[in-house]
Amino acid sequence: MKANEIILRGIPAAPGIKVGKTYLLGGEELAVNKRSIAEGEIPLEVSRFEDALIKTRKEILELQDKVSKGMGTEHAEIFDAHLLVLEDRMLIEEVISRVKKEKIAIDYAFSQVLKRYAEVFTKVEDEYLKERISDINDVGRRILRNLLGRKRKGLEELKDSVIVVAHDISPSDTAAMYHKNVIGFVTDIGGKTSHTAIMAKSLEIPAVVGLETATVQIKDDDTVVLDGNSGLVIVNPKQETLNKYERKQEKIEDLGKIFITLKDLVPVTLDGKQVELAANIELPQEIPSVKEHGVHGIGLYRTEFFYMNRKDLPTEEEQFQSYKYVAEEMKPYPVIIRTLDLGGDKFLSQPQIPRDMTPFLGWRAIRFCLARPDIFKTQLRAILRASKYGNLKIMYPMISGVEELKQAQALLEESKKELHAKKVAYKDDIDIGVMIEVPSAALTCDILSKEAKFFSIGTNDLIQYSLAVDRTNEKVAYLYEPLHPAVLRLIKNIIDAGHKAGIWVGMCGEMSSEPSFALLLLGLGLDEFSMPPSAVSKIKHIIRSVTTKQAEEIAYQALNLSEGKEVEKFTKEQLHKILPKFYPKA
Ligand code: PEP
Ligand code: MG
Repeated sequence: MKANEIILRGIPAAPGIKVGKTYLLGGEELAVNKRSIAEGEIPLEVSRFEDALIKTRKEILELQDKVSKGMGTEHAEIFDAHLLVLEDRMLIEEVISRVKKEKIAIDYAFSQVLKRYAEVFTKVEDEYLKERISDINDVGRRILRNLLGRKRKGLEELKDSVIVVAHDISPSDTAAMYHKNVIGFVTDIGGKTSHTAIMAKSLEIPAVVGLETATVQIKDDDTVVLDGNSGLVIVNPKQETLNKYERKQEKIEDLGKIFITLKDLVPVTLDGKQVELAANIELPQEIPSVKEHGVHGIGLYRTEFFYMNRKDLPTEEEQFQSYKYVAEEMKPYPVIIRTLDLGGDKFLSQPQIPRDMTPFLGWRAIRFCLARPDIFKTQLRAILRASKYGNLKIMYPMISGVEELKQAQALLEESKKELHAKKVAYKDDIDIGVMIEVPSAALTCDILSKEAKFFSIGTNDLIQYSLAVDRTNEKVAYLYEPLHPAVLRLIKNIIDAGHKAGIWVGMCGEMSSEPSFALLLLGLGLDEFSMPPSAVSKIKHIIRSVTTKQAEEIAYQALNLSEGKEVEKFTKEQLHKILPKFYPKA
């Protein structure tokens, strides 16, 4: 009897659709039975342990090398933490001392110590230490496998193409995915900005994360449909579902063929109005993909990722080198560096930020930076220095009023003076922009426009703040409506105020990469659309298929509707009318 179809809903982490067989990762039990040993066997057990540590070290160094060559040194740095676990004297001595005291085999002693570590680490508050659990588990399993002489049921040996299902994907597993037959992955945990999501985007394979129970509900070798566009995983799909997805895939493939022909064309409407299409990036390693997709400019470089997976703060020099690299690679096109946006759902151990009751309304982004000028100015000096090497612009996140903007500007001036005193070159007239993502900023754009060269609308946050819907809470996700009349009115207000003041207005929130929304935004007069590089051709295709008048008419009618759902239906219908072959009826 055929198993029932199950639909699992998660968070879409990387776009694309794939149908394939699953491969459950990390599910193998490394259960170790207790075995007593004689006094005379102790030296042998200790040397087995040493051999396993050496072998594990060699494996990790090989992996690090592979990742470094394939994905860049920044991804490979994660393995430094793994190597540190291998050198942890406390852990090693505890294992040996248990072998000696309790006269037990080394593998059993090690598995017990590992378990205790995991229990202790699960309870700690510190984010950095919490992240270390996965490092310890990852390395621990490797050591145990080597101790037990077991070969890993690993991705390295895959022959067929699979969709990987895992509780979480460790950095070393991601390394093995590089150039392997992994066509997509799903995980129990993680969010849109988790390491796995970023990896999936840079590998350009679809992924759905945060499914909570994927590893329980999906078995090895199940057939699944992985829909990275809408965050769905369909287990044991019915023929009807397979047919539906086959049609969707065909459309994606047809579009793909068109997109290739668009790569070197400008984003211009049928009547000649040009807009800018730019990329959102998190890491400098994404630059090759940005170029491959023919994208001319970075509209949002999120710099928080500099601060992840490490104990210390990034230095000015380290940041300078990265910003310089991106500036030089993208020259003459613009690169907008968004200053540090910590807090909200991005908590790191360095710098230590205490958790607020409502983190998104708390000590976040520019608020944190203004309170910690030491950290903020280090970043500003690094950007200023790199500005000599290309077309860099600075953008401040979460500005809620002009006072904050003025304070940030004062710190920028101080940073310039500090560089000047040291005779370090920088571009004095670097453009300053403001992310408009707080309703108070959206409503006072006319005031802010006097102090800024551009605006970039951060709809991911603007929607959550204007509709009072936590963007990470799946229980209220149904209220998170990008096309809610309130959001549309705010967007219109921002664009109009910017234009009245003679400055350009862009959007770097996810909303700009949604085809029917983009049509509406074009009609509202948006000048720049910034999105993941792989989405750019899709939006370029739409822009090149309409006239300004058509888009303006759509925007006008949409603004007169009273519900978000109606607007969505209406814009989808309009897109269908314009490109019936590629976009279905709403
Ligand atoms: C936004 O809020 O729309 C945005 C682009 O910034 P982030 O998602 O990093 O908060
Ligand atoms: Mg934001």
